[in-house]
Amino acid sequence: MKKTLTLLLASIGTFALILWAGLEMQEKEILSPPAPMVPTLMPSPAAEPSPSLEPTPTLSSATPTPATPIPTVEPPPPVPTEAPPLPTPVPTEPPAPADVRKAIPLDTSVVVLGYHRFCPPGERTSNIYTIQADSFDNQMAYLRDNGYHVISMADFQRFLKKEIGLPRRAVLITIDDGFRSVHTYAYPILKKYGYPWTFFVYTDFINSGGGAVTWDQLKEMQENGAEIHSHTKSHPFLTQRRGKSEADYLKWLEAELPGSRKLLEEKLGRPVTCLAYPYGDWNPFVEQKAVEGGYEAIFTVAGNPVTPHTSWKSLGRFIITKHNENSFTSYLQQLALTIADASPAAGTVTKEARPVISATLMYDGVIDSRSVEAEVSSFGRVPVDFDPTSHKARIHLPRDIIQRNVHVTIRARDKNTGKTRVVNWQFYYEKQVESVPTNLNDATAPRKE
Ligand SMILES: [Zn+2]
Repeated sequence: MKKTLTLLLASIGTFALILWAGLEMQEKEILSPPAPMVPTLMPSPAAEPSPSLEPTPTLSSATPTPATPIPTVEPPPPVPTEAPPLPTPVPTEPPAPADVRKAIPLDTSVVVLGYHRFCPPGERTSNIYTIQADSFDNQMAYLRDNGYHVISMADFQRFLKKEIGLPRRAVLITIDDGFRSVHTYAYPILKKYGYPWTFFVYTDFINSGGGAVTWDQLKEMQENGAEIHSHTKSHPFLTQRRGKSEADYLKWLEAELPGSRKLLEEKLGRPVTCLAYPYGDWNPFVEQKAVEGGYEAIFTVAGNPVTPHTSWKSLGRFIITKHNENSFTSYLQQLALTIADASPAAGTVTKEARPVISATLMYDGVIDSRSVEAEVSSFGRVPVDFDPTSHKARIHLPRDIIQRNVHVTIRARDKNTGKTRVVNWQFYYEKQVESVPTNLNDATAPRKE
């Protein structure tokens, strides 16, 4: 009898325990916020490559850290230590329609690297775009030793046209301008590793003496792994009319865009289909003229990895300078964040001095809401609020814009993998008044590179 009672009591105890656990579980489920409704249109591939197949880069730290901001047209000033308080969140809009959230496969980003000029090992230079030859050699060795695949521009273009897929860790190497130091220092290193690479040259500079490369050197490099493409004729800010009449501006763009392409084709005997905008400066009109001028892949300087969803008309690059060389490995690991409904839209002009900058982040994983951060050129870090339901990020500027070129960077971390994704875009600010000083751009931009 006593035994039965003990058993009965024990049973009641177990039942109570189960009941309690069940209640707590229910409560937990009620308390936890609902998962964001993100329709996944494409099957999500395995989030993480198998460690045995994909070696983790040895130089990287275990905890992914956001990379140093990429200087695009101008390096952003230091981030203030005390961020201004977040403004009252703006009422959220209904979720974006499902087709806007087209998810990107997680492993098909291409990182495009951008270099300019080089110097002998150990030589000090004030030019931030000059990389020492031994540093460049180390970076190229890092790519080889950590499972990166350096791809040719031809393959990159096939990837853009969705004709071929690419291996994970695909990297495209580009060098701008046409400095002789590329032939002296970078070219032998690239040849040593057998890497294909792309040289964007502006045609007025070639054979101009001094630090410029010659046509013969271009031909030699073309025979040994380089693809030569256009960086315009005279390396101008293409969006700047500088008092030209409509007809003169069109004629000038004709010479800068298809003009330089045709000259390169004549001199080097190979098709030229790619363009890198000087200073990354473009707007929809310039873009239209570039497309009409025969270009099929157009590059900016905004540090965005390229995905199958990236427009071939504004392909991002990570510009390597001596200030951000230490971030080289983290740039390689940056993954792309795609955006929709960016406002002000890329390449457009706003007359509002303090627009609310916004974009819908398109991502098929779970974004850690607290990780969303934003930077705007000349502002540094700026307050941003993120609505996990609509995936809309809104940036609030603490003061009016004064510069013409406005670069926006948004970073967000995946909640499960801890990996940071990044997106950049650029728009223009023009004051309401008619006369915008034409030299405003030059004042904020680095010297010709
Ligand atoms: Zn340049």
